[in-house]
Amino acid sequence: MSETRESLNFIEHIIEDDLAGDYVHDQLCFRFPPEPNGYLHIGHASSICLNFGLGLKYDAPVNLRFDDTNPTKEEQEFVDAIKKDVAWLGYEWANECYASDYFQQLYDWAVQLIKDGNAYVDSQSSEEIATQKGTPSEPGQASPYRDRSVEENLELFEQMKNGDTPEGQHVLRAKIDMASPNMLMRDPVMYRVLHKHHHRTGTDWKIFPMYDWTHGESDYIEQVSHSLCTLEFQPHRELYDWFLDQVHQPAKLRPKQREFARRNLSHTVVSKRKLARLVEEGIVNGWDDPRMPTISGLRRRGYTATAIRNFADSIGVGKRENLIDVSHLEFCAREDLNKTSPRVMTVLDPLKVVITNYPEGQEEFLISENNPEDASAGEREVPFSREIYIERADFREEANRKFFRLKLGHEVRLKNAYIIKAEKAIKDEDGNILEVHCTYDEDSKSGSGTEASLRKVKGTLHWVSASHALPVEVRLYDRLFSEAAPDADKDKDFLEFVNPNSLEVVTAFAEPSLKDAKAGDRFQFQRLGYFVVDPDSKPEKIVFNRTVGLRDTWAKLTS
Ligand code: ATP
Ligand code: MG
Repeated sequence: MSETRESLNFIEHIIEDDLAGDYVHDQLCFRFPPEPNGYLHIGHASSICLNFGLGLKYDAPVNLRFDDTNPTKEEQEFVDAIKKDVAWLGYEWANECYASDYFQQLYDWAVQLIKDGNAYVDSQSSEEIATQKGTPSEPGQASPYRDRSVEENLELFEQMKNGDTPEGQHVLRAKIDMASPNMLMRDPVMYRVLHKHHHRTGTDWKIFPMYDWTHGESDYIEQVSHSLCTLEFQPHRELYDWFLDQVHQPAKLRPKQREFARRNLSHTVVSKRKLARLVEEGIVNGWDDPRMPTISGLRRRGYTATAIRNFADSIGVGKRENLIDVSHLEFCAREDLNKTSPRVMTVLDPLKVVITNYPEGQEEFLISENNPEDASAGEREVPFSREIYIERADFREEANRKFFRLKLGHEVRLKNAYIIKAEKAIKDEDGNILEVHCTYDEDSKSGSGTEASLRKVKGTLHWVSASHALPVEVRLYDRLFSEAAPDADKDKDFLEFVNPNSLEVVTAFAEPSLKDAKAGDRFQFQRLGYFVVDPDSKPEKIVFNRTVGLRDTWAKLTS
């Protein structure tokens, strides 16, 4: 390994120590285990990049495992979306696995636990079971059914399996220790009865295994060496190990659960349950709404897979939870898009400029570089004519010396075109500016090499020729929540903090080269930011989403 030990993260340290101990390299195996009850979000991206990153680093298999043990919340739609997102992020899984494929094996092992006296059927309600759990400082009480005979347990468990008992009548519990200081060890439930249709097993199973019983055993079946999960599962590790003890055969590898800190992102929520509420209550238009922190939302917003991977890698893995500012994610997007996006000119809030000394009816095509960061991106022709649009905010009749844009009596350069001077503002009777009359310096064309073209003027504006302009819809997104941590206050509903102005739709004028842009194409609108073509686009109306502005406008507002 080329890196020094110091450059490794703590998970890699664990793996290196295991390799120096009793693990051999060929035993390494990882998994990413989503529950198909929603779409993946940016928090999952951390776990995906961690697990698949380890797979690449150690040349070890990584399984995509669907943890599909709860038929009430899971759907095929979510399985398909998860596969698409992991593949889009650029990762290949070794095996596509489903916990539901292990239902028979898990059942057989559960029967074994009953025979060994390590599991029993409890016929109390979930409320009764909860009241007997005790507190961390007080032991729990044993269920009156704890000492059922093996025969009775086997018979009842089989009835549960066959669908002969209604939901809620019995559960199967592991028989561990009702006085354990770890509440999870106080006879945890292993199975419950559910008469629900499962998206893969249909109505074959009437009993469904609980998370703790399923997860470690699935790791064991797949011979996963390092089962990495988030910190809230730390207290579950003891139970993970206890269940493994019941089934482990000495010749096989024994998986290890290790925990790392969840990654949270500011100004949003990263929990499928909460994201589902945004969808269900119509606050956003679906899981892939470009304001959502889902992988599919970020993709539709114009984020690249590279930007998301770089984000996950740069925040790394840690042992303590923290809130990552969304501006860091935006930074990663700009950094990648700057290298790859062709530059174009689009005016979002148009103000007409008439160049009075430019011949009427004349047009010319000015050569413009597609990407100054990438010579191979080539050049294009941008039409210029007597009437153009500039941004309304780029003109003022009067302004102080710090205003380097267009003001009466002063000059600016039009990007890749000429130097113009503002002569007169034409207004309606209410004083609103209708258009600006300018003159241009005919010798100042960019790149022409003339003395006038080399003249320095302070401001450069983007513009679009009015007669050639392509009207487009532009969706300007802002943060979905106005609070950095909308779900931090447990007494408040996070929906109270939804930013009411997270979407503004405008009709903009784009340069005509954009007429053939296709869904997913990304551009830098010069001086404005990065934009992507939305799948809602139609040939007669292209729709753009703003991915991110050119710089962090929120930083300015708060500093
Ligand atoms: P959610 O609460 O959003 O449903 P989850 O943890 O229940 O999240 P799973 O589908 O069960 O979602 O998670 C799949 C994997 O992704 C797990 O290993 C989980 O620990 C990890 N994961 C989920 N959210 C984050 C996060 N914010 N940061 C890092 N890893 C995460
Ligand atoms: Mg979950």
